[in-house]
Amino acid sequence: MARRGNSIIKGIEINEIITMLNKAYADEWLAYYQYFIEAKVIKGIMKDAAIAELTQHATDELRHANMVADRILQLGGTPLLNPKDWFTHTNCGYEEPKDFDVVSILEDSIKGEQCAISAYSNLAEMTRDKDIVTYDIVSEILADEVEHEEDLQALHDDITDFIQDIKKKI
Ligand code: FE
Ligand code: FE
Ligand code: MG
Repeated sequence: MARRGNSIIKGIEINEIITMLNKAYADEWLAYYQYFIEAKVIKGIMKDAAIAELTQHATDELRHANMVADRILQLGGTPLLNPKDWFTHTNCGYEEPKDFDVVSILEDSIKGEQCAISAYSNLAEMTRDKDIVTYDIVSEILADEVEHEEDLQALHDDITDFIQDIKKKI
């Protein structure tokens, strides 16, 4: 645990930050697996473009899990040790793919990103001016989640427009 590093945290309990970071940590692992499995089972039109995006996002979520775990350790906490705990700590849950169609998969993922944006935005609010280091980390992750939502929405809209055009022509 970083003593001087933690002594600069003011106006917030370190345990409270650790609890919130562990919730985000659970979210990141579940998001990672959701993207991983979606990229495997996805079916339908323009699925290659979707697979590329989902795979890239899986890599990002795993990187986020790393960043969050390292910060929990710096704060003197322990990242959740048992995957069973992901489900009791998560903010955003897990959206099991039920329909493997490209549009449904993208819609599930967009929901997940919107939840992640809210969760990291809360964490940023909570740590701003109090724990600068955590604030920087969660802000960086937040920017990635905003990009994720945008990428998925743009792809979703391209695909649904394309389907509409085809319908008009037949
Ligand atoms: Fe993430
Ligand atoms: Fe994301
Ligand atoms: Mg992307």
